Amino acid sequence: MDRYAVFGHPVRHSKSPRIHAAFAEQTGQALTYEAIEAPLDGFEATLRAFIAAGGRGGNVTVPFKEQAFALADSCDALAAQAQAVNTLRVEPDGHLAGFNTDGIGLLRDLAQNLHVELRGRRVLLIGAGGAAAGVIGPLLGAGVAELVIANRTAPRAQALATRFAGHGPIHAAALNAPGEGFDVVLNATAAGLTGQAPAVPVSVFGPRAVACDLVYGPAAAPFLALARQAGVTTCHDGLGMLVEQAAEAFWLWRGIRPATAPVIAALRGG
Ligand code: NAP
Repeated sequence: MDRYAVFGHPVRHSKSPRIHAAFAEQTGQALTYEAIEAPLDGFEATLRAFIAAGGRGGNVTVPFKEQAFALADSCDALAAQAQAVNTLRVEPDGHLAGFNTDGIGLLRDLAQNLHVELRGRRVLLIGAGGAAAGVIGPLLGAGVAELVIANRTAPRAQALATRFAGHGPIHAAALNAPGEGFDVVLNATAAGLTGQAPAVPVSVFGPRAVACDLVYGPAAAPFLALARQAGVTTCHDGLGMLVEQAAEAFWLWRGIRPATAPVIAALRGG
């Protein structure tokens, strides 16, 4: 059996083992996928031990995506842009290839599952951590009219806007005044994990806005409640994105694309 794993800290809550088990069963692939909690100061040692024991690849989550980028022997264009890796593949010669499938996952969820049009739309992206960095390139590639990035720690948003300036119409703005009436508002902060919504004014939501939190489950509730308070009726959490980014990783490892809809439905069912 080929071994895969998700590395994070904490990682016990991760739905990735369930998602990849469902993909493997659906596609008849013989593999195992486990959750491995690496010590905060021990990601590299944990990863190397996994590879030495035959590990073929892995996903990387908070807080190790930047370290994974630094450890990878090569990276695809999206990981290089984001300077963050969420998927690693061990090549037959031991070469460690890094990828970032977060942006692809978000775009597939928005386009294919939620039927949200991005081309020509004004988009507000809240947050400037690894998740935000991973989705900016694909959002700009989708032809948005404007991408505004706002973050609690403003210089981080400015730094990302500067890094991606050559890739499309992106600029940074203050979290408490990022502009008004956006068509799509994406929450890429971890605020929901502590029961909070990012401190944006409700005027950020346009009349027919789509609100999407990258976190899923109860952690998405504070931001989506803020959106509903502003009259937004189209609200989504990040579960679809999670399954879509996992499907892209599965394809990178196994060369086969699993169907995502039944897995999303099963996870929503409990
Ligand atoms: P990260 O690198 O630690 O960044 C956290 C971000 O959240 C920073 O921008 C931080 O702002 C902001 N933040 C934290 N608490 C806040 C608060 N109370 N108010 C306003 N902003 C706050 O984490 P990440 O990797 O970007 O991940 C962010 C979230 O996205 C995580 O919860 C993760 O689970 C989720 N995610 C989901 C998927 C998916 O597939 N659905 C994929 C990737 C990530 P400062 O810069 O000011 O600290």
